[in-house]
Amino acid sequence: MFDLACYAAREETSKGRLYKETGPSHRNQYQRDRDRIIHSAAFRRLEYKTQVFVNHEGDMFRTRLTHSIEVAQIGRTIARALKLNEDLTEAICLAHDLGHTPFGHAGQDILNVCMREHGGFEHNLQSLRVVEVLEERYAEFPGLNLMYETREGILKHCSRTKATELGELGRRFLEGRHPGLEAQVANVADEIAYNNHDVDDGLRAGLITVKQLKECELFNTQQITVKKQWPELHERRMIHEIIRRMINSLVSDVIATSQKNISKLRPADIDAVRDADMALIGLSREMSANQIELRRFLHKNLYRHHRVQQMMRKTKKIIKALFDAYMTEIGIVPGDFQQSALKFEGKAGVSDRARAIADYIAGMTDRFAIAEYERIIKPLE
Ligand code: MG
Repeated sequence: MFDLACYAAREETSKGRLYKETGPSHRNQYQRDRDRIIHSAAFRRLEYKTQVFVNHEGDMFRTRLTHSIEVAQIGRTIARALKLNEDLTEAICLAHDLGHTPFGHAGQDILNVCMREHGGFEHNLQSLRVVEVLEERYAEFPGLNLMYETREGILKHCSRTKATELGELGRRFLEGRHPGLEAQVANVADEIAYNNHDVDDGLRAGLITVKQLKECELFNTQQITVKKQWPELHERRMIHEIIRRMINSLVSDVIATSQKNISKLRPADIDAVRDADMALIGLSREMSANQIELRRFLHKNLYRHHRVQQMMRKTKKIIKALFDAYMTEIGIVPGDFQQSALKFEGKAGVSDRARAIADYIAGMTDRFAIAEYERIIKPLE
């Protein structure tokens, strides 16, 4: 075990698992969580789910799986430097996107629209639902039966209505409290990972250019240094050299700023972290402004690029058509999901049918959703 600070999450003081289990023989409890996440079906499916680019657009782009691995790698570095629980951080990072629908944010937005009358769809809540309910891997309990702190970290955001339904896990959203530091690290690592890899993927796809990116301080500073040191460097290597330096500058800043915050507050344990007035893990004001500038740039020039928008329009149509078809004709939904839709419907009406269908659709990979669309919708068009 690593050298843990007093404010790190530790299994001795953990709120534990929902279902009692004997402890693992060769690992600690959070390593067990990480391994359960890696063995889950939802984790494997991340390989074929969109981050920004639809999976079949090219083999070079990030998928949700490689994104999650990059988040975990950044998260572990920060956690270890701050003497936090690295295993817990890794588990949260690897699980944070398990509930994502196919086709990235476009998929989630349209599924939320489809579910408007039935309680909505939130991908964070869905990640929790995957590990608590949907995974079927163990004889003694549903889901993965993860530790409280892991589930606390997975639930990054949540609406007030849902928070009320969630009991203890949702309470912090109502009381404006914070999760443990490992969860805060995962959150920051997520943002560092996607901002930087989206620059890389966006450049590779030719949707944004180095010239445009110079308007972003974070990119421009590193660009000047790299160009000065290696004026003849080939563009691809130059881009990668710039991005690795951007990641390093953000990670170093998070570690230094968070260390400062922690030293100021001196939390005695994880509960003091939860009760603190502010999140203790974060960037300095200057770096945070730089990161926001980059995020705005990406929104304007990459996520709203017409080619990305055209793809999103198509994928929204696919999800909406599948949802409507399954709602009207539950008989075309395969075995397990059909059974649970019908079982629930007997109890609580059509919204539970909708929930079972949303679970089914959210679990699909990009290519499976496209294949389903071609199989059951296209021939009837
Ligand atoms: Mg993410």
